[in-house]
Amino acid sequence: MGSHLSEYLLSQGHEVTVLDDLSTGTRENLTAVPGHGSVGLVEGSVLDEATLARAMDGMDTVFHLASAVGVKLVVADPLRTIETSVRGTRLVMEKALERGARVLVTSTSEIYGKNGAVPLGEEADRVLGSPLRSRWSYSEGKAMEELIARTYWAEHGVPVTIARLFNTVGPRQTGRYGMVLPRFVAQAVAGEALTVYGDGSQTRCFCWVGDVVPALVGLVGCEGARGDAVNLGSTDEVTVAELAARVVQATGSSSEVVHMPYEEAYGEGFEEIPRRVPDITRARELIGFEPRTSLDEIIARLVDGARGSRSGKAPTV
Ligand code: UDP
Repeated sequence: MGSHLSEYLLSQGHEVTVLDDLSTGTRENLTAVPGHGSVGLVEGSVLDEATLARAMDGMDTVFHLASAVGVKLVVADPLRTIETSVRGTRLVMEKALERGARVLVTSTSEIYGKNGAVPLGEEADRVLGSPLRSRWSYSEGKAMEELIARTYWAEHGVPVTIARLFNTVGPRQTGRYGMVLPRFVAQAVAGEALTVYGDGSQTRCFCWVGDVVPALVGLVGCEGARGDAVNLGSTDEVTVAELAARVVQATGSSSEVVHMPYEEAYGEGFEEIPRRVPDITRARELIGFEPRTSLDEIIARLVDGARGSRSGKAPTV
């Protein structure tokens, strides 16, 4: 997401500085961006106050994307997940207040937890499982992130907007931490079995990163969105079983689709989110947001990218 946002901002003529601890992202993600030579890369953690301050010096706008990425990482390291969100956001907001910078905080559909409403509006309740289940550490951390951001707006007038990202996909996303589409595409292109967790009846909506990134920039400049949370995502709902079938079809692969119990994928006591569809009315009204790239087109692009990367042409998926 960060490399795509950098690419878009550069194309709009902005100066960009990136702060990244490179724990899950890579330097190559950035070097894939045209014009990356002009991007300042500060290598370090959002939790390191001095480094964060240095990265934010002279910036009028901050996109706060620093966070745990992927369900696998979240269940493996809940403490780090919570700390990055809570302490990281507190520091970002404090530095933004000192500098008079505006902030876009990226939150998540995970906020809504198991709320089965379709579609999910921004005012929907959070329905979470027990805090003894580590999956919820991400949702809890991100909810704190939203509360911290909103409080800096309400009490100190920091111009902040919260974008709640639903499943977002595109080049350079790794399947290493669980994300389903890069995993399915890589499996199909390699002729390996596609691993559907559970019975595959759970649904998601996948949005192209290139549709989401301009919306982040639109929201940070939108007066009407200050202090508020806005869903961003696609509304084209698909079951994970159907997704696997469509990836196999798009690749013409002879891969089979196999089912794997959640416990095997994520450990004992994992809780799944059965359905997740955003209500994007607010984003439409505020900034004219429209997810334009169809799922078939998304799959086709990811397959092309994975094939290119296997043949050593382009390091994408
Ligand atoms: N999933 C799957 N096989 C995989 C990876 C994920 O069936 O190899 C499922 C996962 O259980 C979930 C859906 O795909 O139901 C989306 O998973 P992802 O981690 O991409 O996003 P999230 O669960 O955060 O929506």
